[in-house]
Amino acid sequence: MIRINENYLKLKPSYLFTEISKRVSAFQENKPETTLIRLGIGDVTRALPHACIDAFHRAIDEMAADETFKGYGPEQGYAFLREKIARYDFQERGADIQADEIFVSDGAKSDTANIQEIFASDIRIAIPDPVYPVYLDTNVMAGRAGDLSDGRYEHIVYLDSTAENGFVPSLPGEKVDLVYLCFPNNPTGATIRRDQLEAWVDYARKNRALILYDAAYEAFIRDEQLPRSIYEINGAREVAIEFRSFSKTAGFTGTRCAFTVVPRACMAFDGTGATHSLHAFWTRRQSTKMNGVSYPVQKAAEAVYSDEGRAQVKEFVGSYMGNASLVRNAMLNLGYECAGGENSPYVWIKTGMDSWEFFDMLLNRAHVVCTPGSGFGLCGDGYIRISAFNSRENVEMALDRISRVLKG
Ligand code: PLP
Repeated sequence: MIRINENYLKLKPSYLFTEISKRVSAFQENKPETTLIRLGIGDVTRALPHACIDAFHRAIDEMAADETFKGYGPEQGYAFLREKIARYDFQERGADIQADEIFVSDGAKSDTANIQEIFASDIRIAIPDPVYPVYLDTNVMAGRAGDLSDGRYEHIVYLDSTAENGFVPSLPGEKVDLVYLCFPNNPTGATIRRDQLEAWVDYARKNRALILYDAAYEAFIRDEQLPRSIYEINGAREVAIEFRSFSKTAGFTGTRCAFTVVPRACMAFDGTGATHSLHAFWTRRQSTKMNGVSYPVQKAAEAVYSDEGRAQVKEFVGSYMGNASLVRNAMLNLGYECAGGENSPYVWIKTGMDSWEFFDMLLNRAHVVCTPGSGFGLCGDGYIRISAFNSRENVEMALDRISRVLKG
């Protein structure tokens, strides 16, 4: 008899985006003539930078001739891309990361989802609330979370991110083995200061724990004092794995390219306390289960680091950040408390009412779609997330409509 993985039965239904679509469809059926503005989902709206498109085309042409055609590439990514990443994203910022510590992949979603496979099933895991749902759901699927009771899983240590702690969770009161952190944060838009990140690295070193650091939104950091990588912190090489993505940085959500950094010094332990290299484990996992990212996509990603590519990405990110400032300032002027939007494309707004009630008000009266915060965890209740990923024109129009509704 074929049996299922019963851990899947413990997953909460993926309610958030399904429910948003349901409410949006119902609205549009009633009012087909009304144009909605979507500031809900975290997908980019601008075309790929020209430098990437040109490199993409050239690489496709190489695939069209026997002499330059490429078959299977290196599973961990081509050296031309890994070397640029190591140099521009890490070494130039004083972080000691080498090209062979970079693993190129098709997305930070798959990597943050898959990484838990290389750890024991009975480790103690700490996960922020609110959270990008992938970290939690993949551990539920793997059987580490236990049963759900009152909206929380019994074996997960929740790291509450609230207005009181500036949306940067405090160290857990109990000992945990694996910690997920994400900065700039999705959904709160919060960032972490160097001294706060140092405290987490220190915690991990003292407790022989590991930090999984999701820096998918690193490119949106404007404040030069903020760390962009966990490896800017001394001692992090031994206790942290970092995830990055070209998705939001350079518009690769549909093209797919990201990377994970596993330093050679990063170790985990077996039941006897003997150390094992996570670099070796991740290499084994990836080379067994994937065959790399396509050559044209890696060539397009490499172009992000050319002079032209860097200038275009800067403009691209700058335009979204202009939107984020407009959203943040408009909501502050309307008297709402906001986090994010200064070093991140998300603005997290305290609504003073139930998240879904506020969502419905914006949908039905302002014709704007946002994301209810409660969909990201219990601590998101009473908040909404507004994303800066849209055209300037749409963001201005949305803010104008929101202002009229909230003032009225
Ligand atoms: N990590 C965070 C925090 C995200 O918000 C997202 C996408 O929204 C991802 C990772 C996924 O990125 P990718 O497109 O590289 O899979």
